[in-house]
Amino acid sequence: MEKALRDQYATLGGQVELGMEAVGLIQDVHGVTVTVNSPQGEEHICARYVVGADGGKSNIRKFIHLPLVGETHDHERWYLGDVRLEGLDRDHIHIWISSEGMVGVTPLPKSDIWQLQATIPADIEEPEQPSLEVYQAMFDRRAGAGRVKLRDASWLSIYRVNVHMVECYRNDRVFLAGDAGHVHSPAGGQGMNTEMQDAYNLGWKMADVIRGADTSLLDTYDEERRPVAQAVLEDSTKKMGVVIGTATEGGGLSQSLSTISDDLTSGLLISYRSSSLIRPSALPHATSPFPGDRAPNATGLQGTGFAGSIFDLLRGTHWTLLAFANCVDCIFLP
Ligand SMILES: Cc1cc2nc3c(=O)[nH]c(=O)nc-3n(C[C@H](O)[C@H](O)[C@H](O)COP(=O)(O)OP(=O)(O)OC[C@H]3O[C@@H](n4cnc5c(N)ncnc54)[C@H](O)[C@@H]3O)c2cc1C
Repeated sequence: MEKALRDQYATLGGQVELGMEAVGLIQDVHGVTVTVNSPQGEEHICARYVVGADGGKSNIRKFIHLPLVGETHDHERWYLGDVRLEGLDRDHIHIWISSEGMVGVTPLPKSDIWQLQATIPADIEEPEQPSLEVYQAMFDRRAGAGRVKLRDASWLSIYRVNVHMVECYRNDRVFLAGDAGHVHSPAGGQGMNTEMQDAYNLGWKMADVIRGADTSLLDTYDEERRPVAQAVLEDSTKKMGVVIGTATEGGGLSQSLSTISDDLTSGLLISYRSSSLIRPSALPHATSPFPGDRAPNATGLQGTGFAGSIFDLLRGTHWTLLAFANCVDCIFLP
C-alpha cells in the first residue's frame, strides 16, 4: 500500500522526505511553524495548515494538547510477526485452535512472508518477549510439533488492544488524521481504511480553502469523520472481544471470524447525512439514497465524449454535478 501511495504521490510531483522527525510545533493566527530534525540538522517549516498523520503515538497530537480518551484492554493481547516458514501452502490462511488459544498465519501477497497472529492467554501476567524461539515453541504446542518450521522473522511484536480517540480532530490550524486521532483493535481491518477516508475528506476541503473557499468548510471534517471513527471503535472492540472469547473453541472461532466482515466493515454504509454541508432533499424517498449517503452506481451512461458509469464520473478528487432531467434535484459530489 505504501509503495502504491508513494508512487502516486511522486506522479503528482510530490516527494516523501525520509529521516525527518517533527519535534516541535507552534501556531498563531497567521500560520504554523513545525520544527523538524533532519539529517542536515534542525529545520523550521512554516505553513498555513498542518495535518498530523503521524500514527498512534502522534507527536503532533501532543503538541496541540489533544489527549486520547479511552481504554487499554490489558488482557486482550496478541503475538504478532512477519515471518518466513516451511510446511504450508500459500493458497490459504491457516488457523489452529488449542486450549491455550489460537495461532494463525496469513500469506502476504507478492512475497514469501507470512503475517503471524496468536492470542496470549488472559491469565498470563507477563508474556515472554517475542522471539523466533518463543513463537516456534508456541506453534509446536498449538499446531502440533513438527507441523510448521519458522525460518526467520523481519518483525516481531506484542499488541495490546487500545481503544482510544481524541474528542476533537482540530486545534485551530492543526488537524489530525488516521491513527493520530483514533486507535482501535484491528478486528475488521478498519484502521488504514478509516485513515485514508480521513485524509480524502480533509484533502479536498483543504485544497478548496487554499483556493479561496470559506474556512468554515474545514469544520465539517471533524463533524463528518469523528462519528465514523467512533462507530469503528465500538464495532471493532465488540468484534475483537468475540474473537478472543472464542479463540479456544474451533466452531466458535470459525463463527466469529465469519461474521467479522459485514456491511459495516465494508465502509459502504458510511453516510454524512447529519453534516452541515447537506441540504434537505426536495424529494426524499424511502428507498433512494438520502443527501449525504454514498451514491450508488449506474452503468450504461452515454454522453458527449463519454460512455461509462457513475463511478467512472466520480473517480478522482474533482467535483461532479449530477443534474437529472425531469427532476428538481441536483447532486454535487466531491
Ligand atoms: C496487526 C494489525 C493488523 C492491521 N490490519 C489492518 C487491515 O487489515 N486493514 C486496515 O485498514 N488496517 C489495518 N491495521 C491498522 C493500520 O495499520 C493502521 O490503522 C494504519 O497504518 C494507520 O495509518 P496512519 O497513516 O494513520 O499511521 P501510521 O501507518 O502509523 O503512519 C504514521 C507515519 O508517521 C511517521 N511518524 C511518526 N511520528 C513522526 C514524527 N514525529 N515526525 C515525522 N514522522 C513521524 C511514522 O514513521 C509513520 O510512517 C492493522 C493494524 C495492526 C496492528
